[in-house]
Amino acid sequence: MPLIDPFARAISYLRVSVTDRCDLRCVYCMAEDMTFLPKAEILTLEELDRLCGAFIDLGVERIRLTGGEPLVRKGVMQLVRSLGARLGGGLRELTLTTNGTQLTKYADELAAAGVRRVNVSMDTLDPAVFASVTRWGKLDKTLDGIFAAKAAGIAVKINAVALKGVNEHEYDSMLAWCGEHGFDLCLIETMPMGEIDADRTDQYLPLSRVQARLQERWNLDPTDYRTGGPARYFTVRETGRRIGFITPMTHNFCEGCNRVRLTCTGTLYMCLGQEDAADLRQPLRDAGTDDAGLHAAIRGAIARKPKGHDFVIGRREDGASSPRHMSVTGG
Ligand code: SAM
Ligand code: SF4
Repeated sequence: MPLIDPFARAISYLRVSVTDRCDLRCVYCMAEDMTFLPKAEILTLEELDRLCGAFIDLGVERIRLTGGEPLVRKGVMQLVRSLGARLGGGLRELTLTTNGTQLTKYADELAAAGVRRVNVSMDTLDPAVFASVTRWGKLDKTLDGIFAAKAAGIAVKINAVALKGVNEHEYDSMLAWCGEHGFDLCLIETMPMGEIDADRTDQYLPLSRVQARLQERWNLDPTDYRTGGPARYFTVRETGRRIGFITPMTHNFCEGCNRVRLTCTGTLYMCLGQEDAADLRQPLRDAGTDDAGLHAAIRGAIARKPKGHDFVIGRREDGASSPRHMSVTGG
């Protein structure tokens, strides 16, 4: 029996935040002096593997590892290899969302483990803007990572968060650059997740406006291409590549939601924008050699998946509508 939620949506996609830590501090994602979870609370890689395995046994076909920065977790390739070995046996796709800084080191190993595509977050092609958005990141490191992935035969999609007054004049050149190198581009609206140091209402740029501006210069043909995620994609006629728009604020994408999110402490969030969560760490540790109790806990959680989110910027005093950082739940 596959995992079906109360609104008849089949849950086939699991995002796993393997760590809340990161080597960067993007301004929309984290505060500069983040307090990270104590190591003792974090599931071991073996536990994460077993939990993912239980989801695959229950019909999950796609797993995306994210974070924090998934590739800064020590030994993470052990998990990647183990999950990769399940490809073809229920699991259809294993992917990653990464900031790219460690890809020069890991691209070949990822490809060997069966990873065929990665999303790399890069909000700008301007080294100075990159340094200020990430607080201390070096653009070249991410670019080297992107090209290492490409050289390893991994398809790259560039994710860029649309930030008012920061990168909003770059989308044309980023689209052209992606076309030149054979990458898809996905623009993301900022979501009000967790306390940061800035005012969210200053950062928010509606993508409907961005799209209209892009269409003055590019021919964007709507497609029904889906990656199992909420993005709406268009083919850019001039480059042959795709551009996607993720618009949680202006466009509610909940009707087709097929996903749940697991944190590195074993908490399952059934919706990115709602607080209800289920603890899977205890059932996992109680499980012994038999997964029946764990399966029951997962089914019980899915039975509580809400109909949708209700993000509203400015609902909380700090401008966030969810107290959780994206790095906890995984973007
Ligand atoms: N560190 C990896 C990376 O940056 O790709 C993976 C984790 S990061 C939390 C996943 C994605 O979430 C990134 O593309 C990032 O830009 C996006 N993100 C983080 N905070 C966000 C926010 N408040 N609103 C929208 N997107 C956000
Ligand atoms: Fe780190 Fe990714 Fe958050 Fe940037 S968006 S701080 S790279 S987790």
